[in-house]
Order: sequence, then C-alpha cells, then structure tokens
Amino acid sequence: MFSLKGKIKVEHMKITNFLILDSNGEHIDSDAFGNNVAFRCCGCGYPVLAIALENQRGSDEDHPSECKGCGEEYFLDIRERTEKLYIHSLREYNASNI
Ligand SMILES: [Zn+2]
Repeated sequence: MFSLKGKIKVEHMKITNFLILDSNGEHIDSDAFGNNVAFRCCGCGYPVLAIALENQRGSDEDHPSECKGCGEEYFLDIRERTEKLYIHSLREYNASNI
C-alpha cells in the first residue's frame, strides 16, 4: 500500500515546450504536450510515453514508464523553473546510486 501523505499533488504541471534532455544533458527527440511526453527508447527506438503527474507512469523512480519494446524503464526529472525535463533510465539511475 502506498500513501499520499506528505506528497504534493501535481495537477497543474505542464511540460509543453520544455527542453527534453537525457541523463547526459543531450537533447533528445521527443514530443511534449500538456502533461505528457513521448520519446524514443534509447535502447531499441520504440516509442515510450511518460506522464508528468504524481503516481502516473514515468512520474518518478517509483513509477517508471516501461518500454514495450525492450523493457527498459524510464522516469522524468522535471525542473520547472528552468523549463527542462530530464529523462532518466531507471537501470542507469540505480547503477549510479549504488
Ligand atoms: Zn526499448
């Protein structure tokens, strides 16, 4: 069971026109609109959709978005102030945080 206690609900997050970058800060091909961003899996090229809303797929490392092509998992790292959005691979994130 998970709890929303202490979590801020993000219902207004709009990422349209945000700069979409990978973990290395490289610009990646994507389509961001409203709360959603579509991008290509860096492993297999399959399209992946992530949603920038609390508890939705891809919103954070606990709710990754899974590539239907190869199973790679991704999550978003939104920097609202600078209008940037980083897309991290959960596998790489875990590897670099051990
Ligand atoms: Zn893939």
